[in-house]
Formats: sequence, structure tokens, C-alpha cells
Amino acid sequence: MRRTLVLNASFEPLSAVSLHRAVVLVMQQKAVVEQADPSRLLRSAGVAVPVPRVVRLCRYVKVPYKQRAPWSRRGVLVRDGFRCGYCGRRASTVDHIVPRSHGGEDSWLNTVAACGEDNHRKADRTPAQAGMSLLVKPFEPTPGDALLLGLESRDGAALPEWLRRPAVA
Ligand SMILES: [Zn+2]
Repeated sequence: MRRTLVLNASFEPLSAVSLHRAVVLVMQQKAVVEQADPSRLLRSAGVAVPVPRVVRLCRYVKVPYKQRAPWSRRGVLVRDGFRCGYCGRRASTVDHIVPRSHGGEDSWLNTVAACGEDNHRKADRTPAQAGMSLLVKPFEPTPGDALLLGLESRDGAALPEWLRRPAVA
């Protein structure tokens, strides 16, 4: 099911809601449509409106506590654009930079997308031990980034250009 991205009044990604919820927010004038899918129309009360993909709250909502983005293999692949951190080719596996057998964790900073070949070649070694170097520096996405990445992985083409890539510090 398609989700609609909700931005804070400050344009920061806040959450993803059901289409129904997004439409209700707009109808109640609590949010404005920032981006809609012109190819899909929603018919309601005799009018046809484009399906909102991104809505923005009219009033700023204070977010008291920033949660951390949960780690996942899929999230790592999407974060790295499905490109191998060692050679830049298409990646379909996730490599633990410090292998789990050496105490490496499932974490954003210890994992990177890797092609099967490099993952196999590196095996149970650190990059230094394997004589391999990383082309990218793994980073921890903010929860907002993770939200965008999650939406993008399903439906990237529908997101506006200015929202498509998380800001990487
Ligand atoms: Zn590779």
C-alpha cells in the first residue's frame, strides 16, 4: 500500500501515513499538498484530485526526541544505492566491515553494501586484512533519512528531486 510522506512545516520528514490519513489532513486544512501524483486521481465528493505523495503540515510540530533509524540489511543497500562499497558495481549483499566473528555488529557504521564477489573475497577478514579499501564512508541515517530511503526503495520515482537524497554529513 502506498504511503504518503508527511513533512513538518519546516520541510523536515516526519512520518509516512496512509493515503486516507493524508487526505484527511489536507481536507481539515492541517496540511498542504507539496507533491502529488498527477497520473493517479482520487475521486471524492464529485471532484477528482491528484493523489498526494508528499504533504506538509501547516503548523510546526515539535519533535521532542529523535529516535535512531533501525538498522536493516535492506536499509544498508538502499542507503548505499545498491552500489558495492569496494568496487562501485551493483551490490546485492551486505558486508560487515568488522566481521561478526570478530565482534562486528549489525550497525549502520559497520555495514556496507557489497557485490557478491567482493563479499566472498573479503570473507571473514577486515578490509585491512583482506587488502581492500572502502570507497564510501558508512553513515547512520537520521530517522527522517530512513523514512525517505524506505519510501524511495518502494516508490522512488514519485518523490521530488529535492527530497530524494538524504543530507549526508
Ligand atoms: Zn564489489
